Amino acid sequence: MADILLRGGRVIDPARNFDANADVLLRDGKVAGVEREIAAPKDARVIDVKDKWVVPGLIDMHTHLREPGQEYKENIETGTAAAAAGGFTAVCAMPNTVPPNDNRAVTELIVRRAREVGAVRVYPIGCITQGQKGENLAEMGELQEAGCVAVSDDGKSVMNSEVMRRALEYARGFGLLVIQHAEDHNLSANGPAHEGPVSTRIGLRSQPAAAESAMVARDLELVALTGARYHVAHVSCAETVRLVREAKRRGLPVTCEVTPHHLTLTDEACAGYDTSTRVNPPLRSDKDVAAVREALADGTIDAVATDHAPHSSVEKDVEFEQAACGLIGLETALALCLELVHDKIMSPLALFARMSTAPARILGLVGGTLAPDAVADVTVVDAQATWICDPSRFRSRSRNSPFGGRTMRGKVMLTIVAGNIVFAEEKLVG
Ligand SMILES: [Zn+2]
Repeated sequence: MADILLRGGRVIDPARNFDANADVLLRDGKVAGVEREIAAPKDARVIDVKDKWVVPGLIDMHTHLREPGQEYKENIETGTAAAAAGGFTAVCAMPNTVPPNDNRAVTELIVRRAREVGAVRVYPIGCITQGQKGENLAEMGELQEAGCVAVSDDGKSVMNSEVMRRALEYARGFGLLVIQHAEDHNLSANGPAHEGPVSTRIGLRSQPAAAESAMVARDLELVALTGARYHVAHVSCAETVRLVREAKRRGLPVTCEVTPHHLTLTDEACAGYDTSTRVNPPLRSDKDVAAVREALADGTIDAVATDHAPHSSVEKDVEFEQAACGLIGLETALALCLELVHDKIMSPLALFARMSTAPARILGLVGGTLAPDAVADVTVVDAQATWICDPSRFRSRSRNSPFGGRTMRGKVMLTIVAGNIVFAEEKLVG
C-alpha cells in the first residue's frame, strides 16, 4: 500500500482541538504524521487538498443496511458505498433486519458480508430483546462476542419498564451501550405527523412530542436506578433536550443523537404529502428544530446520526399514512449539517466532534481523530462547493429522500478507510 500525503489542507481534529493548515501523511493504514510541512516520501501518492478540510472519517451510529432480508431496499455493498460517498468511514448497522440481529448467526453474517463487500467499516448493533418483541432479553454476551458494539430494538421502544430495567442491568454487565428508540407506542399510536397546528391544517393523524419525551423521562429514572449507559436515538423535540440536559447535569451516563433531517426540516415539509418526509419520530415544529440545533451546538446532543432508512417505491408510493417511515441520509448528511456551520450556529471543530469524535468515544470505536498512530480513516471536504441534490445519482439502492432539488453547500472529495481510498470525487484525484 503506497503512502498517501494530503498536502496543504485545513486539518480539523476535534479530539486534539486542532484546527490549522497542515500536511497529513498516511502510512500502513495509520496516520503517520500531521505537520506544517511534510516532505513527500519516495513513491508516496501526493494529493493536493489546498482549500479543503481534512477531518477524521465520519462515523454514523445509526444506519439501516437492510441486509439480511430486505436487499431490494439496500444491501451491505450499496449501503456502504453510499456511506463512503457521504464521507463516512464507519457505520453502525441497526438490528431490525429480517430476521432481526438478535443472535450470533445474524451478527456473523453481517460481519462477513461487510468484510467481503463493504466499502467502509461496519459495526453491527444487536437487539435488546429476542425478535425485538420487548419480552425476553437477547443473549447480549453472545452478540458482543460476535461483533455487536451496542444493543437497540430500534424501530420500537422497549415498552415494558421491568424488561427495560433488566436490559439495562444485563447490558451494564457487558459494558454495552443501550440505544433506545424512545416512543410510547400507546401515546404515538403510529401517528404519521407531529401533533400541532400544521397536522391540523393538513389533516394528518398525529402524535405529540410527549410520545418521545415521556419514554425518555421513564428511561432516565431506570438509568438512575441501574447506573447503565444509555443513549437516546434520533432526539426530535425540545422537551427531550431539556430532560437530557438535566440528566447530564445530574451526572447520569446518558448520551444522545439527532438526525440531519430533524435539524433542517420542520413539520411544514409534510404539507406536500411527500412520503419521504414520513419519518419516525415525525418532523417537528420550528421550536423543536431550534431546540435540537441549539443542543447540538452546546453539546447536550452528543452526536449526529443519519437514521439512513432505505425504502423502495413499494413502501413509499402510497398514501402518506400508509407509507413506511424513514428517509435515506448517508449522502446528504454532511452538506445538511454544514448548514449549521455556514449559519454560524457551530464551529467546524464542534461539528466534526459530533460527526466523528463523539460517536467513536460513545461506542469505543477506532477513529474519531487524526492523532499520530490513529487509524487512517480520513475524509476530505470542500466546504464551499455547491451542488444540487439529485437522489437519482445516489449510490444507495433506494431513492426516498426529500432533499432532491435542494442546493447543498459542502461536498465530500475523498474518503479514506485504513489508508485505502474508498471514494474520490473525480475532480480531485481523477
Ligand atoms: Zn428509531
